[in-house]
Amino acid sequence: MVAFAALLYIITYHVKGQTTKGLFREEQREESLNMPSSDSAAMDVVKAFHMKEGVGETSYAQNSSLQMRVVDLMKHITLSTIADLYIARTPPHLAIADLGCSSGPNSLSLIKEIIESVDEACHRLDRPPPEFTVSLNDLPANDFNSMFLSLPEFYKKLNRGSQSVFIAGVPGSFYGRLFPSNSLDFIHSSLSVHWLSQVPKDLFDENGKCINKGNIYISPTSPPSVAKAYEKQFEEDFNLFLRLRSVELALGGRMVLIMAGRGSRDSWGNGITFLWDVLAQAFSIMVSLGKVEEEKVNRYKTHFYTPCVEEIKEVVEREGSFVMDKWEMFSTSEMLRRVDGRDTARSIKAIQESMMVDHFGEGVLIEELFELYGDLLQEKMQEAKFECFNMVVVLRKAA
Ligand code: SAH
Repeated sequence: MVAFAALLYIITYHVKGQTTKGLFREEQREESLNMPSSDSAAMDVVKAFHMKEGVGETSYAQNSSLQMRVVDLMKHITLSTIADLYIARTPPHLAIADLGCSSGPNSLSLIKEIIESVDEACHRLDRPPPEFTVSLNDLPANDFNSMFLSLPEFYKKLNRGSQSVFIAGVPGSFYGRLFPSNSLDFIHSSLSVHWLSQVPKDLFDENGKCINKGNIYISPTSPPSVAKAYEKQFEEDFNLFLRLRSVELALGGRMVLIMAGRGSRDSWGNGITFLWDVLAQAFSIMVSLGKVEEEKVNRYKTHFYTPCVEEIKEVVEREGSFVMDKWEMFSTSEMLRRVDGRDTARSIKAIQESMMVDHFGEGVLIEELFELYGDLLQEKMQEAKFECFNMVVVLRKAA
């Protein structure tokens, strides 16, 4: 399967010493063009993190309809951004990329609508439709094969002929270079950029002891240094992400980023942190039942972060290559509250299982943990006061 997938991948060669308008000093180039190498947590993410493969009952494909609904809520912004970009230039060819495409129907379903919205604009302008290259990016362990297997169906539904839309897989971290300089017109990324490049190192003190015991993420019981460690990691990662994409996007190119966010700088503890807190409670029950060692659980942390829009604005301004054309924040709390807690647990299992297997090993622990998690969520979700937000940010390459 791997060999077959490898044949189909476009491997992006990272040419050392490539000039990028002087944006990179030599050591920065080293840092950003290679996968992080000296840190084991970072290596684990790149090697181990992937959504549950395949199309079976527990797969991401079967457990990501909530994500699809979130992306749908913001779709009008994505579609109008690409249509405006096309109308401003009417190029014969558009190069687009979906960063963190995962497997399952979500990515190609949106790509289809993106292409159709450009086709509609062409129709209105009475111009011939452009050709598209579509790059589907995700980490190397992603199930690209499932994506490729769904391409014939995609082309059939698209009803445009495979001769004008050219799709390739691009395996690699978006915290490294993925594409040649100035080669992209449009980047879309949904629910991916809130994943950090690594678990923040500052969550462990100089003796390797965890400073956030009993929690998986920032929680109301975490000391303030925990939120600071996550904030710092996000700022570094997002700055790097922008710097890399600014090299790859052509001038005027657009980027639409959809991610989990939080309503304001201080609103910890009442957002998506609720889902991580209940998972931490499930872990602590497993510890009290003697099913897993407490110390092992204490070392398990998530590499996830929900920024507020002020943080995004600050990094965008400081990095300097992009202008923020638009942003919107959407509450998804009601949507989440209506879902059965056990279904939410299945979705989170499809997302987190690979990292848990990497940390705890294969076994019944994970199955039992998620059974328990589903029951706890079902019980707590209805009465819990939590506000979940997602945000969409539209960026234009300006320098
Ligand atoms: N866009 C899809 C998938 C979201 S799940 C949807 O809307 O349903 C998040 C995806 O981001 C996962 O597939 C994960 O592997 C990917 N991802 C996380 N960190 C990444 C990184 N550094 N580089 C590339 N992909 C990454």
